Formats: sequence, C-alpha cells, structure tokens
Amino acid sequence: MSERVSPLYCPYCAGEDLRPHGDQHGTWECRSCTRVFKLTFVGLVVSQ
Ligand SMILES: [Zn+2]
Repeated sequence: MSERVSPLYCPYCAGEDLRPHGDQHGTWECRSCTRVFKLTFVGLVVSQ
C-alpha cells in the first residue's frame, strides 16, 4: 500500500501551501502556519 499521499489542505489552518518535510514519506510542512504533520494510513473500511 503506497504511503505517497498528498494532502490538499493543512488539517490545522486549511492552508494550501504544503510541501514534503525532509525525506520522511508522509511528512508534510505547512508554510502558512509552520506546522509539520504526518499522514498515516490506518486501514480500509470493510463492508459487511
Ligand atoms: Zn497550516
């Protein structure tokens, strides 16, 4: 499962100026609020 997910908006300030942070996959930095956050794949929803 790929972890190369690109967020469209910052989850904290809704800013759109996001770019990868360092070499860690799934880690992004927001240029609007200077926060660094990480996206983590949790799982899939299984219909019953
Ligand atoms: Zn932000």
